[in-house]
Amino acid sequence: MTRPRILIVGGGFAGVECARRLERTLAPGEAEIALVAPFSYQLYLPLLPQVASGVLTPQSVAVSLRRGLRRTRIIPGGAIGVDGAAKVCVIRKITDEIVDETYDYIVLAPGSVTRTFDIPGLTEYGRGMKTLAEAAYVRDHVIAQLDLADAATDEAERVSRLQFIVVGGGYAGTETAACLQRITTAAAARYPRLDPKLIKWHLIDIAPKLMPELGDKLGADAMEVLQRRGIEISLGVSVAEAGPETVTLTDGRELPCRTLIWTAGVAASPLVATLDAETVRGRLAVTDRMTLPGFDGVFALGDAAAVPDVATGDGAICPPTAQHAQRQGKAVADNLTATLRGAPLRPYVHKDLGLVVDLGGKDAVSKPLGVELKGITAQAVARGYHLMALRTNVAKVRTVTNWLLNATAGDDFVRTGFQIRRPATLRDFEYTDSYLTPDQVREHTRAMTVRH
Ligand SMILES: Cc1cc2nc3c(=O)[nH]c(=O)nc-3n(C[C@H](O)[C@H](O)[C@H](O)COP(=O)(O)OP(=O)(O)OC[C@H]3O[C@@H](n4cnc5c(N)ncnc54)[C@H](O)[C@@H]3O)c2cc1C
Repeated sequence: MTRPRILIVGGGFAGVECARRLERTLAPGEAEIALVAPFSYQLYLPLLPQVASGVLTPQSVAVSLRRGLRRTRIIPGGAIGVDGAAKVCVIRKITDEIVDETYDYIVLAPGSVTRTFDIPGLTEYGRGMKTLAEAAYVRDHVIAQLDLADAATDEAERVSRLQFIVVGGGYAGTETAACLQRITTAAAARYPRLDPKLIKWHLIDIAPKLMPELGDKLGADAMEVLQRRGIEISLGVSVAEAGPETVTLTDGRELPCRTLIWTAGVAASPLVATLDAETVRGRLAVTDRMTLPGFDGVFALGDAAAVPDVATGDGAICPPTAQHAQRQGKAVADNLTATLRGAPLRPYVHKDLGLVVDLGGKDAVSKPLGVELKGITAQAVARGYHLMALRTNVAKVRTVTNWLLNATAGDDFVRTGFQIRRPATLRDFEYTDSYLTPDQVREHTRAMTVRH
């Protein structure tokens, strides 16, 4: 007898948790488990700003899939379309070969991509903070600006290379601006020809507040830390146009700048649009059991799905956080097990545990279980939380060792020459142009059926 096939799309917080839980709860005879993932690691995104700033090495936040998963078949590639009627997932392997995977149940957890708007020059000159390659690229790029400014003989060039703009006042943007500003300030000692006063960081957001989820007091504390360090914060403002050497803001200011880091929100993975299913703000509109109405055997979760927030109970959907994604992964695995065993499915209920924001060095703000903390205590909570959440002991040890080494020996500000001559764009880093349209998916599966 053939076993039911479960296909999980995405090896992130949600997908990996789901696979691990299924391996634990299902006997090998109960189902076949496969996972499609473009990379062989689960990226611990909350620590990505620390990779960009060189506090952590990329390996510390790239948690091996194969250390945690024993019997899941891992397919190296990305899903580029799903035909819910034929129960086929179209996959582009890392070799570019297109293969079809049939499934009985599919778990869609492809996460999200950087949300962009129709702003001239943004997709060419803006850099995201969503992938390991982007974080490594940004670090290299920032150090390259210091090297080039140091060598420049033209004052205008020096000024534009030493101004840095981060767009997005959520935790990703705030942590990125805070951590990177620290390295450029510390680097000034190694570049004695540079005037440290020329190094300027701007954090901008169209919203009236930074990280509103922190509440007024902690939000003000975070602002105070950033401003004390000289980061200029502009709220109610966005980018009107981005160019290679200038960024124009919506308030009319034209800043000479060659580094635009764009973290103004996320949009569900483009895979969602290949299904022709109902969405809520671009995320798949699932039930509180994380099933997709109108589609047989489809579950969706994490950043790609709009999961009703039953704990809040006011018709809200769960925010796109790692905390929710990981717990939803477990809940979907349990609902899949229940489906296979003919038991009832359960709704997803999780009360938010709070937020930690690492601003680099001894600075942090955090709100564990509603308790407001700042400074070194908040930093201890933030780092303790990350260590707990990193899945493997090897990753935990690597991270702690990196923190200790950075705190004692500082940074070498080494540039590796990554993509320096032909920088990739947001589209290249996040593969957003790889996907099929719903019609192309149907056409593809029809052609495959005829051929067989
Ligand atoms: C800089 C930054 C800092 C953050 N800090 C925090 C924080 O402090 N706390 C918090 O709770 N949340 C934080 N978040 C948000 C959190 O990381 C996300 O909400 C979480 O990763 C969502 O989990 P997911 O499993 O849905 O997606 P992801 O973890 O992004 O995983 C999706 C996976 O799917 C893969 N994938 C993508 N497309 C395809 C495809 N077509 N086929 C197959 N695989 C695919 C991706 O490579 C990835 O491995 C942060 C995010 C960022 C960017």
